[in-house]
Amino acid sequence: MFIGHYAPAFVAATSRRAPRLGALFVAAQLVDIAFFSFLILGVEHLRVVPLATAMNGMDLYDMPWTHSLVGAIGWGVLFAIAIKLLRGSWAAAAIGGVVVVSHWVIDLIVHRPDLTLAGSAPKLGLGLWNHPWIEVPLELAFAYGGLAFFVSRTRAAGTAGKWSPLVLAIGMGALQAVNWATPQPEAVGGAPPAAGWLGLFAYAVLTALAWWVARTRTVR
Ligand SMILES: [Zn+2]
Repeated sequence: MFIGHYAPAFVAATSRRAPRLGALFVAAQLVDIAFFSFLILGVEHLRVVPLATAMNGMDLYDMPWTHSLVGAIGWGVLFAIAIKLLRGSWAAAAIGGVVVVSHWVIDLIVHRPDLTLAGSAPKLGLGLWNHPWIEVPLELAFAYGGLAFFVSRTRAAGTAGKWSPLVLAIGMGALQAVNWATPQPEAVGGAPPAAGWLGLFAYAVLTALAWWVARTRTVR
Protein backbone atom coordinates (compact mmCIF):
# COMPACT_ATOMS: atom_id res chain seq x y z
CA MET A 1 0.00 0.00 0.00
CA PHE A 2 1.02 3.58 -0.62
CA ILE A 3 -1.82 6.12 -0.32
CA GLY A 4 -3.98 3.57 1.53
CA HIS A 5 -1.69 4.10 4.54
CA TYR A 6 -3.19 7.57 4.98
CA ALA A 7 -6.62 6.27 6.07
CA PRO A 8 -5.66 6.09 9.79
CA ALA A 9 -4.12 9.58 9.55
CA PHE A 10 -7.35 11.05 8.11
CA VAL A 11 -9.50 9.38 10.75
CA ALA A 12 -7.19 10.36 13.64
CA ALA A 13 -7.01 13.98 12.43
CA THR A 14 -10.74 14.45 13.08
CA SER A 15 -10.02 14.34 16.84
CA ARG A 16 -9.20 17.70 18.43
CA ARG A 17 -6.70 15.91 20.66
CA ALA A 18 -4.73 14.43 17.76
CA PRO A 19 -1.65 15.91 16.08
CA ARG A 20 -2.43 17.89 12.90
CA LEU A 21 -2.87 16.13 9.56
CA GLY A 22 0.65 17.01 8.34
CA ALA A 23 2.25 15.33 11.36
CA LEU A 24 -0.09 12.35 10.98
CA PHE A 25 0.97 11.96 7.33
CA VAL A 26 4.54 11.59 8.58
CA ALA A 27 3.33 9.10 11.21
CA ALA A 28 1.44 6.97 8.67
CA GLN A 29 4.57 6.53 6.54
CA LEU A 30 7.30 6.83 9.20
CA VAL A 31 8.13 3.13 8.85
CA ASP A 32 8.66 3.61 5.09
CA ILE A 33 10.46 6.96 5.54
CA ALA A 34 12.91 5.08 7.78
CA PHE A 35 13.09 2.22 5.26
CA PHE A 36 13.88 4.50 2.29
CA SER A 37 16.46 6.34 4.40
CA PHE A 38 18.05 3.03 5.42
CA LEU A 39 18.00 1.95 1.74
CA ILE A 40 20.01 5.06 0.85
CA LEU A 41 22.38 4.45 3.78
CA GLY A 42 22.74 0.74 2.99
CA VAL A 43 21.33 -0.36 6.35
CA GLU A 44 18.35 -2.24 4.85
CA HIS A 45 18.01 -3.74 1.40
CA LEU A 46 15.67 -4.75 -1.37
CA ARG A 47 16.35 -6.37 -4.70
CA VAL A 48 14.24 -6.18 -7.80
CA VAL A 49 12.87 -9.46 -9.08
CA PRO A 50 10.56 -9.59 -12.12
CA LEU A 51 7.03 -10.45 -10.95
CA ALA A 52 8.03 -10.77 -7.29
CA THR A 53 4.35 -9.89 -6.94
CA ALA A 54 1.81 -9.27 -9.69
CA MET A 55 1.79 -5.55 -8.91
CA ASN A 56 5.49 -4.83 -8.36
CA GLY A 57 8.90 -6.42 -8.59
CA MET A 58 10.14 -5.78 -5.06
CA ASP A 59 11.86 -8.54 -3.13
CA LEU A 60 11.95 -6.90 0.32
CA TYR A 61 14.30 -9.44 1.83
CA ASP A 62 16.06 -7.28 4.44
CA MET A 63 14.16 -4.71 6.50
CA PRO A 64 14.37 -5.87 10.15
CA TRP A 65 14.64 -2.39 11.70
CA THR A 66 11.61 -0.89 9.97
CA HIS A 67 9.18 -3.62 8.91
CA SER A 68 9.21 -5.88 11.95
CA LEU A 69 6.33 -5.44 14.38
CA VAL A 70 8.81 -4.68 17.17
CA GLY A 71 10.58 -2.17 14.91
CA ALA A 72 7.30 -0.48 13.98
CA ILE A 73 6.36 -0.18 17.65
CA GLY A 74 9.79 1.31 18.33
CA TRP A 75 9.24 3.96 15.64
CA GLY A 76 5.79 4.58 17.12
CA VAL A 77 7.30 5.19 20.56
CA LEU A 78 9.92 7.56 19.10
CA PHE A 79 7.22 9.47 17.24
CA ALA A 80 5.05 9.64 20.37
CA ILE A 81 7.97 11.05 22.39
CA ALA A 82 8.57 13.68 19.71
CA ILE A 83 4.88 14.70 19.73
CA LYS A 84 4.86 14.83 23.55
CA LEU A 85 7.90 17.14 23.49
CA LEU A 86 6.43 19.34 20.75
CA ARG A 87 2.77 19.43 21.80
CA GLY A 88 2.96 18.58 25.51
CA SER A 89 0.01 16.21 25.16
CA TRP A 90 0.02 12.53 26.03
CA ALA A 91 -3.22 12.03 24.08
CA ALA A 92 -1.69 13.48 20.90
CA ALA A 93 1.44 11.38 21.50
CA ALA A 94 -0.58 8.17 21.87
CA ILE A 95 -2.71 8.84 18.78
CA GLY A 96 0.41 9.61 16.72
CA GLY A 97 2.12 6.43 17.94
CA VAL A 98 -0.86 4.27 17.00
CA VAL A 99 -0.93 5.76 13.49
CA VAL A 100 2.78 4.87 13.11
CA VAL A 101 2.13 1.22 14.03
CA SER A 102 -0.91 1.09 11.70
CA HIS A 103 1.60 1.14 8.82
CA TRP A 104 2.84 -2.36 9.66
CA VAL A 105 -0.71 -3.71 10.03
CA ILE A 106 -1.79 -2.34 6.63
CA ASP A 107 1.44 -3.60 5.02
CA LEU A 108 0.56 -7.04 6.37
CA ILE A 109 -2.48 -7.11 4.08
CA VAL A 110 -0.63 -6.43 0.82
CA HIS A 111 2.97 -7.60 1.19
CA ARG A 112 4.01 -11.11 0.28
CA PRO A 113 5.55 -12.81 3.33
CA ASP A 114 8.46 -10.43 3.98
CA LEU A 115 7.34 -8.80 7.25
CA THR A 116 8.58 -10.12 10.59
CA LEU A 117 7.60 -9.88 14.21
CA ALA A 118 11.11 -9.14 15.46
CA GLY A 119 13.48 -9.19 12.46
CA SER A 120 13.70 -12.90 11.64
CA ALA A 121 11.40 -15.75 10.57
CA PRO A 122 8.46 -16.36 10.55
CA LYS A 123 7.86 -14.05 7.60
CA LEU A 124 4.35 -12.68 7.33
CA GLY A 125 2.20 -11.13 4.60
CA LEU A 126 -1.21 -11.89 3.11
CA GLY A 127 -0.03 -10.99 -0.40
CA LEU A 128 -2.83 -8.83 -1.85
CA TRP A 129 -0.21 -7.36 -4.21
CA ASN A 130 -0.79 -10.58 -6.14
CA HIS A 131 -4.49 -9.73 -6.49
CA PRO A 132 -4.72 -6.30 -8.16
CA TRP A 133 -8.48 -6.54 -8.61
CA ILE A 134 -8.82 -6.57 -4.84
CA GLU A 135 -5.80 -4.46 -3.89
CA VAL A 136 -6.49 -1.47 -6.16
CA PRO A 137 -10.12 -0.84 -5.11
CA LEU A 138 -9.20 -1.50 -1.47
CA GLU A 139 -6.34 1.00 -1.57
CA LEU A 140 -8.54 3.63 -3.25
CA ALA A 141 -11.31 3.00 -0.71
CA PHE A 142 -8.86 3.42 2.18
CA ALA A 143 -7.32 6.62 0.80
CA TYR A 144 -10.42 8.38 -0.50
CA GLY A 145 -12.78 6.98 2.13
CA GLY A 146 -10.38 8.39 4.72
CA LEU A 147 -10.23 11.76 2.98
CA ALA A 148 -14.03 11.91 2.65
CA PHE A 149 -14.39 11.13 6.37
CA PHE A 150 -11.91 13.89 7.19
CA VAL A 151 -13.74 16.41 4.97
CA SER A 152 -17.11 15.49 6.51
CA ARG A 153 -15.79 16.20 10.01
CA THR A 154 -13.90 19.40 9.30
CA ARG A 155 -14.94 22.69 7.72
CA ALA A 156 -13.16 25.18 5.52
CA ALA A 157 -11.54 28.02 7.48
CA GLY A 158 -11.51 30.19 4.34
CA THR A 159 -11.72 29.95 0.57
CA ALA A 160 -8.54 27.85 0.31
CA GLY A 161 -10.06 25.28 2.65
CA LYS A 162 -12.78 24.52 0.10
CA TRP A 163 -10.20 23.49 -2.47
CA SER A 164 -7.32 22.11 -0.45
CA PRO A 165 -8.79 18.59 -0.01
CA LEU A 166 -9.34 18.35 -3.77
CA VAL A 167 -5.73 19.33 -4.43
CA LEU A 168 -4.58 16.70 -1.92
CA ALA A 169 -6.85 14.13 -3.59
CA ILE A 170 -5.31 14.88 -7.00
CA GLY A 171 -1.79 14.76 -5.56
CA MET A 172 -2.44 11.38 -3.96
CA GLY A 173 -3.99 10.01 -7.14
CA ALA A 174 -1.17 11.25 -9.36
CA LEU A 175 1.61 9.78 -7.22
CA GLN A 176 -0.26 6.50 -6.76
CA ALA A 177 -0.78 6.30 -10.54
CA VAL A 178 2.97 6.76 -11.11
CA ASN A 179 3.61 4.02 -8.53
CA TRP A 180 1.17 1.62 -10.19
CA ALA A 181 2.40 2.45 -13.70
CA THR A 182 6.05 1.73 -12.87
CA PRO A 183 6.94 -1.25 -15.07
CA GLN A 184 8.16 -4.53 -13.64
CA PRO A 185 11.97 -4.92 -13.65
CA GLU A 186 13.35 -6.91 -16.57
CA ALA A 187 15.99 -8.78 -14.59
CA VAL A 188 16.99 -9.54 -11.03
CA GLY A 189 19.14 -6.78 -9.56
CA GLY A 190 19.89 -4.44 -6.68
CA ALA A 191 17.60 -1.59 -5.67
CA PRO A 192 17.53 1.15 -8.33
CA PRO A 193 19.77 3.96 -6.97
CA ALA A 194 16.95 6.52 -7.06
CA ALA A 195 14.39 4.29 -5.30
CA GLY A 196 14.97 5.65 -1.79
CA TRP A 197 14.99 9.29 -2.90
CA LEU A 198 11.85 8.88 -5.03
CA GLY A 199 9.98 7.39 -2.09
CA LEU A 200 11.08 10.17 0.25
CA PHE A 201 10.16 12.80 -2.36
CA ALA A 202 6.64 11.39 -2.79
CA TYR A 203 6.07 11.36 0.97
CA ALA A 204 7.41 14.92 1.30
CA VAL A 205 5.03 16.23 -1.39
CA LEU A 206 1.97 14.59 0.18
CA THR A 207 2.98 15.69 3.69
CA ALA A 208 3.31 19.29 2.50
CA LEU A 209 -0.18 19.11 0.94
CA ALA A 210 -1.63 17.56 4.13
CA TRP A 211 0.02 20.29 6.23
CA TRP A 212 -1.68 22.88 4.00
CA VAL A 213 -5.05 21.10 4.22
CA ALA A 214 -4.80 21.15 8.04
CA ARG A 215 -4.07 24.90 7.99
CA THR A 216 -7.10 25.62 5.82
CA ARG A 217 -9.68 23.46 7.62
CA THR A 218 -10.76 23.17 11.26
CA VAL A 219 -12.27 20.21 13.11
CA ARG A 220 -16.05 20.68 13.58
ZN1 LIG B 1 5.95 -0.19 4.44
